[in-house]
Amino acid sequence: MGWSINIGKIFGIRFRIHATFFLLLFFVFVSVVGQFGINRAILATLLICAVFVCVLIHEVGHSLIARRFGKETKSITLLPIGGVATIEEMPEKPIQEIAMAIVGPFINLAIAGILYMFVGQWTGAGASNLYPDSVKSFFAGLIGINVMLAVFNMIPAFPMDGGRVLRGILAVKMDYVKATSAAVFVGQALAVLFIFFGLFFDWWLALIGVFLYIGAGSEKQQVMLKSILRQVPVGEAMTTDFLTLRPDEPVRNALEHFHHGHQDDFPVIGEGGVEGILTRDRILAGIHEKGLDAPISEIMDRTFVLVAPKTPLDEVYKKLLSTKKTAMIVAEAGEIKGMVCLDGISRYFMIRAELKNLGR
Ligand SMILES: [Zn+2]
Repeated sequence: MGWSINIGKIFGIRFRIHATFFLLLFFVFVSVVGQFGINRAILATLLICAVFVCVLIHEVGHSLIARRFGKETKSITLLPIGGVATIEEMPEKPIQEIAMAIVGPFINLAIAGILYMFVGQWTGAGASNLYPDSVKSFFAGLIGINVMLAVFNMIPAFPMDGGRVLRGILAVKMDYVKATSAAVFVGQALAVLFIFFGLFFDWWLALIGVFLYIGAGSEKQQVMLKSILRQVPVGEAMTTDFLTLRPDEPVRNALEHFHHGHQDDFPVIGEGGVEGILTRDRILAGIHEKGLDAPISEIMDRTFVLVAPKTPLDEVYKKLLSTKKTAMIVAEAGEIKGMVCLDGISRYFMIRAELKNLGR
């Protein structure tokens, strides 16, 4: 995410703070100092920081449970509206998803409980005291906010943790895509209620409703896309009309094809079959480093990836992203059948959607 400042690592997970978060601190300080004086302004600013530490622990909780199930977290980013843990892939086993989602709100409740044992009072879940006037009311407010965070996160609508818990519960009995659809339906119905009541009573509620409605929609889209990717073999989406190059040809020839054709990536075929792949970046870097007359074998990528035509698209897609390759060669029994790249996959989906529209 742009405008994020790297703070360091927690349990090996990159931790960043979005620049606008400091704007929030500044805004709170300035607005409270004018109204209540410097002491309460400092306490209010510290309270925001304390809340964000709790949000951070909540996100770390998600990440550590995800790690138990073999899913790594790329980074945790703190935004003025909350924390976001970017987990490489959500676990799809229902029990794992439930455990991973529920740990967040549970942590907020645990923090509230532990603090309550020391402080002995709280402001209630409404977090009415955002401008504490003493250390005691500071902690009383922090307890209230943690209870509120737990309740808010358990709203059964995506992208809240409650939405994931609900899908997990449904997915025990249902297929994952159907469970998602049902959970999205519940979430969006709830969002519409929020918007409706929000318009009469509280604009914040309406805004949360809009946020939940959009979040549910994008979750459904992602899960649908993933399930389609899983059903389509790469053989159906690959390009079959492509040129190949020989390793002893000069780089000049590759540039010629690249310049006058539509192809960005070329399989390099030698005596014994595929020897490498020549991508656009390699062609451009190769001209710079070795000149136009160097043989292609000197600049091609020898760490190319071959996939079988039957490989599901989601695996190819993941491999393209994780290996940072721009293209892969589709081959069967030593023979090249086609090429696949990210552009090609999105082109395939565009055509597929158009054909579906025609069929209707
Ligand atoms: Zn959470």
